[in-house]
Amino acid sequence: MLKALLVTISVSVSNAGRRKSSTSTTPPYIDLEEQLRVLQERVRMLTKINNDLRRKLDDVQREVYKLMSPPLIEATVLEVLDNGRAVVKSTTGPNLVVQISKDIDPSTLRPGMVVALNNRGSTIVEVLPSRVDPMVKAMEVVEKPGITFKDIGGLESQIRELYEVVVLPLKQPELFKEIGIEPPKGVLLYGPPGTGKTMLAKAVASESDAIFIRIVASELVNKFIGEGARIVREVFRYARRNAPAVIFIDEIDGIGARRADLGTSGDREVQRTLLQLLAEMDGFDPLSNVKVIAATNRLDLLDPALLRPGRFDRIIEVPLPDYRARVEILKIHLGRTKYADNVDIAKLASMTEGFSGADLKAVVVEAGFYAIREGRREISMRDLVRAVEKVKKRGKSERETKVSTTSTHI
Ligand code: ATP
Repeated sequence: MLKALLVTISVSVSNAGRRKSSTSTTPPYIDLEEQLRVLQERVRMLTKINNDLRRKLDDVQREVYKLMSPPLIEATVLEVLDNGRAVVKSTTGPNLVVQISKDIDPSTLRPGMVVALNNRGSTIVEVLPSRVDPMVKAMEVVEKPGITFKDIGGLESQIRELYEVVVLPLKQPELFKEIGIEPPKGVLLYGPPGTGKTMLAKAVASESDAIFIRIVASELVNKFIGEGARIVREVFRYARRNAPAVIFIDEIDGIGARRADLGTSGDREVQRTLLQLLAEMDGFDPLSNVKVIAATNRLDLLDPALLRPGRFDRIIEVPLPDYRARVEILKIHLGRTKYADNVDIAKLASMTEGFSGADLKAVVVEAGFYAIREGRREISMRDLVRAVEKVKKRGKSERETKVSTTSTHI
């Protein structure tokens, strides 16, 4: 194509030269030079267009190749053999002994890696990126939760009870052995959201110098079939290996709700996860250095099997804070801020009837934002009163949304 273009250009240059030389008085070579420059510029442009089109053609050809190529088969490496072969388990079928493509270094393959086999299933052609183990996502581990009983307001009786039944047995198991009583293996905290259940469990762990492991039970059952039970097993194993440990199972009603008819595979999965939890709890000594604390907002929903002796046999209510508790909680959260002398904590406590600890914290944070927005360096009583109204309104609209979604479910 380029060659033809150059021939055309040189012919048109020589024709133009001939035409010009018969009519013009200027030396013919000056005009010809000008025309040559224009034509050379045109050649450059056309070469560039040609290159762009070639690149596009390559892209399209690559895309067509991808569309036409047959799908690959996903498999997991079980064992790497000698002579460039490996045993893999394909996701759909039996274990296979396959070749390893020359593009893959066999020494980089490890059991458990996810790979792609060619469409005949005979060769590993690609190593696929590893997925995050659901176990890692489901479990939160805090080595040293920086929360102490002093950070919790208005829950003195709950703290006393947790100290006796969890902290003491972890710190001084010999006391219990000597007297001959068994502390509970598991404690169940129940109460409305945001009342400090997670805080209590974290404080118990840090007061006992134990690691804190949190799992959210309702999330376990959204995993693949069998994953929930596996994660429960792994969490207990991890806790035993890293003891002393406090396992906190949040939203336990997610797996511990009264048994429904086990119609769907989802129900059966919930059941399997719960049974694994019960088996783990039955299997350990009450004086071992692993303790389980569970939390729920719905005690009424729980399966009685969970509450039998040797399981969650100590039930502690964590209610919404009363007036005195609200004063304590406000003091704790305001104590971390700079506030004006006119702030009346007693008045704020009477204005916040029905607020949870989390709501009271939100009041202090919102008030801080009002102060910053208006360029002040400390929180005023007015900021706090406005924040109370805002949090009250937010709570009301959240409650209304909940009611409307529940009624649509009915
Ligand atoms: P949920 O049931 O929604 O999981 P929860 O009962 O576990 O809630 P937490 O997560 O412990 O509640 O509390 C949320 C936040 O509210 C805490 O981080 C803390 O700042 C504040 N808070 C709640 N209760 C108290 C309290 N009694 N004293 C001090 N702060 C509190």
